[in-house]
Amino acid sequence: MKRVYNFSAGPSMLPEEVLKKAADQMLSYEGCGMSVMEMSHRSKVFESIIYGAEELLRELMNIPEDYHVFFLQGGASTQFSMVPLNLMNKNNKADFVITGQWSKKAFSEASRYGDTRKVASSEDSVFSYIPKLDKSMFDMDADYVHITHNNTIYGTRYTTLPDTGNVPLVADISSDVLSQNIDVSKFGLLYAGAQKNIAPAGVTIVIVKKDLVGNAMESTPVMLNYSTHIKDRSMYNTPPCYCIYIMKLVLEWLKNLGGVSAMQTINEEKAAILYDFLDNSDMFKGTVVKEDRSLMNVPFICPTEELNAKFISEAAEKGFVNLKGHRTVGGMRASIYNAMPREGVVKLVEFMKDFESKNK
Ligand SMILES: *Cc1c(COP(=O)(O)O)cnc(C)c1O
Repeated sequence: MKRVYNFSAGPSMLPEEVLKKAADQMLSYEGCGMSVMEMSHRSKVFESIIYGAEELLRELMNIPEDYHVFFLQGGASTQFSMVPLNLMNKNNKADFVITGQWSKKAFSEASRYGDTRKVASSEDSVFSYIPKLDKSMFDMDADYVHITHNNTIYGTRYTTLPDTGNVPLVADISSDVLSQNIDVSKFGLLYAGAQKNIAPAGVTIVIVKKDLVGNAMESTPVMLNYSTHIKDRSMYNTPPCYCIYIMKLVLEWLKNLGGVSAMQTINEEKAAILYDFLDNSDMFKGTVVKEDRSLMNVPFICPTEELNAKFISEAAEKGFVNLKGHRTVGGMRASIYNAMPREGVVKLVEFMKDFESKNK
């Protein structure tokens, strides 16, 4: 069966090995005579899946003991509400760095619950860079500082973390979770929707320092209170069982590959292949500043709209799909998450070279 190279920003590619294993186990998971979709989340078998996934995630991300790890529904977008409801609890203030649509959404949702402040923004140049941040810019009384660690739409990422002093740093890592080493101990809270690097859409990972939990706002709905899910180890209600199972398979795949460090090396190679080509091409140009380039999402443009459209359509015919850029940037975007093989990037660049020479 022919599979395409899928450059979608999300949901996106899953490792072929994982899909095959899931297909193998579809009718009967490890001899239990039913699929994971059909089993009780209260069963011993499912407990081994969900607790196994948590253990693997802790191991792969080197998550310290004083952090809770749990799995939720509602996507990263629900965290835009849950983070303020649970953490904006001392001075009812939070600082935001605005680096794209997702941070804007996180900011505007949090603004419903307390005093929010835009510390810096790169909106002035279509979010093509990460603003320079200095400790003096942050309010030392804020309950937290929120950043979007990798900007899926604009293709930027933080290469150094802001110094926020004692104010907990909260980061949306939806589009770069497990793609590179990050030091969890530098953060108060991390969250990620799964559909870019971990699993199908439907499960969200939250990693939070234990001492930040337990003081949610009075009016917080029980389902939006972190304590609810921590107490019942992600099973207060029915979790997204099948997504969690696929997540476990993806984590096993990643571990076999050598873990996050090995994945980071591969991702750096993949990104370099594409960026090196963009830097030397007369036709294709990257849209963000060099020092803030994402390893996961690579936006680029041709000199004219006609060429952009022609490229996207000819690429699709060759099996390179979902390359159309976000409407606010235009042009193209290649999302090269963990599951995109090196070969996919190499072949895309070959195709780009060929396109360039034929359309001079
Ligand atoms: C995709 C994405 C989101 C939105 O995720 P949902 O799961 O659809 O809510 C939020 N933040 C970032 C950085 C993303 O890439």
